Amino acid sequence: MKQLYYPFFILLMAIGTLQAKAPIEEEIQNVTIFGSGVGALTSAVYLQRAGINTLIIEGRNPGGAIAQSPLVHNWPGEIAIDGQTLVDKIRKQAIHNGAKIVHEEVISVDFSKQPLTVTTRDVFDKEKIRTFKTRACIIATGSTPKLLGVPGESGENGYWTRGVYSCAVCDGALYKDKVVAVIGGGDSAITEANYLSNIAKKVYVIIRSDKFKTVELRRKEELAKKPNVEILYNTKINDIQGDGTKVTHLNLSTAKKLPIDGIFVAIGANPNSSIFKGQLDLEEETGYIKAKNVLQTSVPGVYAIGDVVDKVYKQAISAAGDGAKAALEVEAYLSNLPDKFHRAAPQIKTETVVKINNKTSEGLDEITTKEAFYDIVGTGNTPVVIDFYSPYCVPCRSLLPLLEEAAVTYKGKIRFYKINVTDFAELATSYNISSVPTVMVFDGNGKIIEQATGIEDIHKILKKLDSIKASD
Ligand SMILES: Cc1cc2nc3c(=O)[nH]c(=O)nc-3n(C[C@H](O)[C@H](O)[C@H](O)COP(=O)(O)OP(=O)(O)OC[C@H]3O[C@@H](n4cnc5c(N)ncnc54)[C@H](O)[C@@H]3O)c2cc1C
Repeated sequence: MKQLYYPFFILLMAIGTLQAKAPIEEEIQNVTIFGSGVGALTSAVYLQRAGINTLIIEGRNPGGAIAQSPLVHNWPGEIAIDGQTLVDKIRKQAIHNGAKIVHEEVISVDFSKQPLTVTTRDVFDKEKIRTFKTRACIIATGSTPKLLGVPGESGENGYWTRGVYSCAVCDGALYKDKVVAVIGGGDSAITEANYLSNIAKKVYVIIRSDKFKTVELRRKEELAKKPNVEILYNTKINDIQGDGTKVTHLNLSTAKKLPIDGIFVAIGANPNSSIFKGQLDLEEETGYIKAKNVLQTSVPGVYAIGDVVDKVYKQAISAAGDGAKAALEVEAYLSNLPDKFHRAAPQIKTETVVKINNKTSEGLDEITTKEAFYDIVGTGNTPVVIDFYSPYCVPCRSLLPLLEEAAVTYKGKIRFYKINVTDFAELATSYNISSVPTVMVFDGNGKIIEQATGIEDIHKILKKLDSIKASD
């Protein structure tokens, strides 16, 4: 997952200036939900069932945190289910009941008066900004993994996404038979280390104290027994070193220089609440949104649910439970507003097929063998776009609808395929791919004409497809 960089803050400031110029849309939304994780989607299902039209601003992580979990064992009614399938089911249910989901993120709010004002930006195109009013909001923006804050980690000279990551199931496949380190001593560090121990040659688990924080002793013991896992207690990272393109070693507080290919930071998370500073009461030290009773924030009509408000339970089911409660509160709140909102019968959709430009999307064909890959990129009369993805990578999921849309638009002129780096790690590393999503465009004779990593840079490539497509 991508991290915020210093230039990003400059961009936000620039957007602040642009916002003043963005005209406010005429239509007032009834309820706007920020986020598209289990909490947000559950709220949407309840609201739509109550005949209240709901707009979901999905943010950069469609499906939210649970979509990164390969197996969830504690969701009621499912003995085991992968997180993405789980959240996709709730998403489909929300859409089926009429919820509208947009690929935007909230960049600022004005909660000083009713109706509330929300400004969003298109996830793929940062130039596209819009401002609209809404009668109520449910904030379900979750949390973001914490970083260590040591030199070499992120920023201009850091190795973020070039050897430093926060999600093993997303990027771990690129470290097959390599040496990796997991930083942290909580449940998520154990999950990451367990996952990586099945891929990497050696996994160091680096813990700054003398013990794991987990309550699940069995999982800790199972991890410690693995022959390729070594746990370093009472150890901190002083800095991360590399050769300019990739990580080479860690300097540890024990004065040891540890040769390493990749590091996975698993030291907890911060609530995604910074855009609400000055608008809502937040906990000063932690940034969690303060809410009382049924998730009511300091502003009437604004509710907060799940991991952005809950620092204790942080579970999918508790976020979903919050979502249901907040939806019922919103329903009562809207009914009491002097400005009566339009309430419609639940809009059940019978059709859930994705249609783009009025054409049914067929999805991207998956490349399943190395031979097929070389055949596809090396032959053919048309350029070919290859999406290198991994199943649990959140930005990869964000990107897919955009690629599917492009595949429909350029049918016959550009070919589109996807390839799972978890199955083709060697192939990906042979093209120096150190993070996903990466998109490469080949000219049809095996020559690379474009390559980009991350949704914003990939979006720039997609905008150039007109000039790349085969002529009529
Ligand atoms: C690897 C992993 C495994 C886990 N396994 C389990 C498990 O087995 N069982 C369990 O119960 N829990 C598990 N959890 C925890 C669980 O996933 C979370 O508690 C739950 O997803 C929280 O839901 P949420 O709706 O509050 O937020 P999230 O699911 O985190 O969703 C946050 C949403 O907010 C959006 N967003 C953020 N900023 C903005 C913005 N500015 N504008 C618009 N949208 C925004 C994001 O795009 C995202 O859609 C796991 C978590 C992880 C990371």
